[in-house]
Amino acid sequence: MENFMKSKDAYKEAVDLMPGGVNSPVRAFKSVGMSPIFMEFGKGSKITDVDGNEYIDYVLSWGPLILGHADERVVTKLKEVTEKGTSFGAPTLLENELAQLVIDRVPSIEMVRMVNSGTEATMSALRIARGYTGRDKIVKFEGNYHGHGDSLLIKAGSGVATLGLPDSPGVPKTIAQNTITVPYNDLESVRYAFETYGDDIAAVIVEPVSGNMGVVPPKAGFLQGLREITEQNGTVLIFDEVMTGFRVGYHCAQGHFGVTPDMTCLGKVIGGGLPVGAYGGKREIMEKVAPTGSIYQAGTLSGNPLAMTAGLETLKALNESSYEAINKQVDRLVEGFTEAASKYNIPLQINRAGSMVGVFFTNEEVVNFKTAQSANLDYFAQYYRAMIEQGVFLPPSQFEGLFLSTAHTDKDIEHTIKAIHTAFASIK
Ligand code: PMP
Repeated sequence: MENFMKSKDAYKEAVDLMPGGVNSPVRAFKSVGMSPIFMEFGKGSKITDVDGNEYIDYVLSWGPLILGHADERVVTKLKEVTEKGTSFGAPTLLENELAQLVIDRVPSIEMVRMVNSGTEATMSALRIARGYTGRDKIVKFEGNYHGHGDSLLIKAGSGVATLGLPDSPGVPKTIAQNTITVPYNDLESVRYAFETYGDDIAAVIVEPVSGNMGVVPPKAGFLQGLREITEQNGTVLIFDEVMTGFRVGYHCAQGHFGVTPDMTCLGKVIGGGLPVGAYGGKREIMEKVAPTGSIYQAGTLSGNPLAMTAGLETLKALNESSYEAINKQVDRLVEGFTEAASKYNIPLQINRAGSMVGVFFTNEEVVNFKTAQSANLDYFAQYYRAMIEQGVFLPPSQFEGLFLSTAHTDKDIEHTIKAIHTAFASIK
């Protein structure tokens, strides 16, 4: 690693311009004792920072880039479409094409609406669920993150967990009191919430694989249990697949686990690196959305041609065997982590779902937010800095998962495993 001079200078300038010098809190590298690294370009599995340091990238813009950086197919098509105008505020054929593809691939989605981010998708889905049921309360899980909408910013994961800000100031009490939080993977608590609040619960929203407290997969029967409880109570079951959608498998997490929710939120991969989110579900529910129905939701740039193109080209490039190929690389990487942990006697739990991997420095099995918090954050920070030194770029938080793409090569994985050995050997 050469140095971080230019990143440091850029950061000095940025802190005066933006809160914490960043446009999203997790980019601040606070919890690993570093200042942000400013990136300049990416190609395939690699990114290069402003000082010329190259890294194998396991952040992939926090999930969207499942084909790696600047994929030829995506870039070529984007250039072509850009020449024709970037946004019209009127429908285009590209929107039909992406909608059809999403409906074909996602079991629960009969109709879909495109938005510009995961946050918009979850906020909108909640409004639709509330309007559809005529109820106000929602159930969410501790350590699940669904973006920064008021109703959902309570005991949330991701940056909220990294920075230790469980309940954000600015969320009115009257809104917060309609959010019931329960531990992930705990059906008993969900049943108790329904016994207590019964007919008032509009929706249960869940990450079918939790990816925002590190990676925590659902226990056998958890998602099925949520399906049964919500069905019995006339409550809308929402899978937040912003992270898992088109990543955990070709038919998303719902296809992988064989549980079909009423509504699904998408983001990240569906936009192939451009700002896209979507929500969709049963026709009967989606027809309540304006202009067919009376529940309002809109967006000036929603469905714009550039965003649709990046999403379409990304999804079209993926087939069942793309996922098998990435999963093989993940198998090898996980094996490497396990070997290194046992060699250097490091307490380590690895959770994994498809190409989402959670590495926790603890001996405790990680099944929810409480057990995720048993991880040793100091070990994580030491490991993190040692990996950066060796040209491996990971999400700078214990409470985030790492991602792989179709562009990661055997050589990348072997380099990363070597770096893990060196990092684990240096942990004090
Ligand atoms: N839901 C989940 C499961 C997420 O992981 C995220 C972002 N990490 C969001 C919602 C919010 O998406 P965005 O950052 O695009 O608003």
